[in-house]
Amino acid sequence: MIRDPENESMPRERLERLQLERLRAKVGEVYERVPFYRRTLKEKGVTPDDIQSLADLRKLPFTSKLDFRDNYPFGLMAVPMEQVVRIHSSSGTTGKPIIAPYTRHDVDTWAEIMARTLTSAGTTENDVLQNAYGYGLFTGGLGFHHGAELLGATVIPTSTGNTKRQILMIQDLGTTVITCTPSYAITLHEAAREMGVDLRDTTLRLGIHGAEPWSEKMREDIEDRLGIIAINVYGLTEVIGPGVSVECPYKCGMHIWEDHFLAEVINPETGEQLPYGEEGELVITTLTKEAQPVIRFRTRDIISLNPEPCDCGRTMVRMSRLTGRSDDMLIVRGVNVFPSQIESVLLEVEGVEPHYLIVVDRQHAFKTDELEIWVEVSDEVFSDEMGKMENLEKRLRSEMDSVLGIAARIKLVEPRTIARTEGKAKRVVDRSEL
Ligand code: AMP
Ligand code: ZN
Repeated sequence: MIRDPENESMPRERLERLQLERLRAKVGEVYERVPFYRRTLKEKGVTPDDIQSLADLRKLPFTSKLDFRDNYPFGLMAVPMEQVVRIHSSSGTTGKPIIAPYTRHDVDTWAEIMARTLTSAGTTENDVLQNAYGYGLFTGGLGFHHGAELLGATVIPTSTGNTKRQILMIQDLGTTVITCTPSYAITLHEAAREMGVDLRDTTLRLGIHGAEPWSEKMREDIEDRLGIIAINVYGLTEVIGPGVSVECPYKCGMHIWEDHFLAEVINPETGEQLPYGEEGELVITTLTKEAQPVIRFRTRDIISLNPEPCDCGRTMVRMSRLTGRSDDMLIVRGVNVFPSQIESVLLEVEGVEPHYLIVVDRQHAFKTDELEIWVEVSDEVFSDEMGKMENLEKRLRSEMDSVLGIAARIKLVEPRTIARTEGKAKRVVDRSEL
């Protein structure tokens, strides 16, 4: 099913005309309203009038996560606060979170995009959709919620956690669609098994999973364990939240909703645009966002694009699964974690050295379920009595918890035991390499 065939299946020529029109308007708007963009465009010697074709996109400057940090909280906003009806947030690279404001129009557009996304995945108004993405500051919960309601499905807003209750709801309320991270889908299966429930015997038929990397192998595993079709969905806070792209039932890449999000792939080293089919960093320009449009946002996600028409009838370009990141971000139980955040905590706490190692159990790309941080203590603390070490460990655990937003295991190690490198320090190691 296609919710909005006029847009989702429009001839690419017409799509490109629409994109150019929207791009020109958006660049003009941010140039006028956001001092940051006026400055970065001026620095590149570009004015909105220089954008005459889509190829001129490459004249525009990039925007990065650091620009979000430097303009925290509202420096990238293009409307007055009175027009903002909601604010979401996600982890930034250091202590400062990423802030995502939405106007009324943004919230409505997002719901429509999510209704389109859910339909592409195979959801209909007859479905009972259990939404186990986190509600709150994270975009996942409310993003899926409003899209599913607009579509007319029956929404059960369970949010994350309370896994036993999730299983009971699936059984008792007749849930047909589950939306959650791929790792939570596995957790659901394990919990159900412990309760003596076989999820394959329930009404569950479809899972829509994203927010963290997963493999084709993992898909097969989820489909087999839960007895469902599992669909990949992608998005990010800086751009809108979930709903930037999603698979169709052919599962051959995620269609990017290009009438709203203009996608490019670049070489992360040089910034050069790459042709379709080549692997590189995904860069997105929002064409319709009002509160906080982004121009050429470097997602750091490594993918490739395929513009071939799809059997489903949609003309929108398809992006591959994510194969990696061009920065050192990790996703731990759905939460983005940057080594720089850990470093910022260590620099504030007395008694430890800024030498650390993040030990992870990798299952796919940059996703991990457990986070263990090895921290070198200073000579003074190390030679002191045990009590001090214990206090230090406790303090670090709570500081990390509040800065990272998730619990980490802390292991204090003797001075000078973490290997020093001459070049780039290696901060993240797989347990199997230890
Ligand atoms: P956030 O802004 O906190 O929602 O995090 C967005 C990031 O999550 C993206 O930049 C990706 O790195 C990751 N992500 C989201 N969806 C997927 C997906 N389907 N596959 C792999 N990684 C994903
Ligand atoms: Zn398709």
